[in-house]
Amino acid sequence: MGLWFTEKQTENFGITMKIKQTLHTEQTEFQKLDMVETEEFGNMLLLDGMVMTTQKDEFVYHEMVAHIPLFTHPNPENVLVVGGGDGGVIREVLKHPSVKKATLVDIDGKVIEYSKKFLPEIAGMLEDPRVDVQVGDGFMHIAESENEYDVIMVDSTEPVGPAVNLFTKGFYAGISRALKEDGIFVAQSDNPWFTPDLIRNVQRDVREIFPLTRLYIANIPTYPSGMWTFTMGSKKYDPLEVTEDRFHEIDTKYYTKELHKAAFVLPKFVSDLTK
Ligand code: SAM
Repeated sequence: MGLWFTEKQTENFGITMKIKQTLHTEQTEFQKLDMVETEEFGNMLLLDGMVMTTQKDEFVYHEMVAHIPLFTHPNPENVLVVGGGDGGVIREVLKHPSVKKATLVDIDGKVIEYSKKFLPEIAGMLEDPRVDVQVGDGFMHIAESENEYDVIMVDSTEPVGPAVNLFTKGFYAGISRALKEDGIFVAQSDNPWFTPDLIRNVQRDVREIFPLTRLYIANIPTYPSGMWTFTMGSKKYDPLEVTEDRFHEIDTKYYTKELHKAAFVLPKFVSDLTK
């Protein structure tokens, strides 16, 4: 029969995976951290019982959070990742030669430590000389930043526990201040099947702060419902107006220059959440 892990994605629905072994488990200062080896998806990081990333499907999320804003901005040099302690978004950010500095601010140093140990192909670029890793509250970092970043990516956990503040209008207003006058931000905004109200609220809050707001989607099999959304707030540049010459060669497994625009074509029940 073997050992099975279930993530309850709602009170009445979940995802179940067969586990080979538990690699590490501890209650950190901020959350329950589990690193397990699965039969189907390789090593998997869980925080408070929720799937964060797996060796098999991690590339989808990390490529789509990073490359859509970084190809939309004409010259992204200074980038901030809030959360993202597994290192996957940073790995993708560093594929852009224009990036001079990538700052990561994750509240929990244990996530960084155990991602380096058990997810080396995801966390391996955190030691790159262009990367500044800080352990701290992303909400406070944003509150203390002004006119500093070209692109900000919010790669946080769900709006529970330490990440509650990262889904507030005040945080998005802080992001706007932390960005330069032509900056762009992207945040993961959960799924339309089980958390439509969250998407509707994030879109509404971001729309009140940024001149241009967009929603795009990607398929992530281990995330609730498999249909994941990302919200973009942009002060100037439109991802749908990026010209062909901007797409430099890049090593990816999900993102393509065609998907850069196709990802914004939404099913009706999803686009209705942006109205
Ligand atoms: N891709 C995943 C998702 O969409 O759920 C997120 C992965 S990443 C591991 C999430 C990170 O957010 C965790 O490492 C967690 O410690 C971090 N985090 C949560 N609240 C935070 C805060 N207030 N400031 C900085 N990092 C935070």
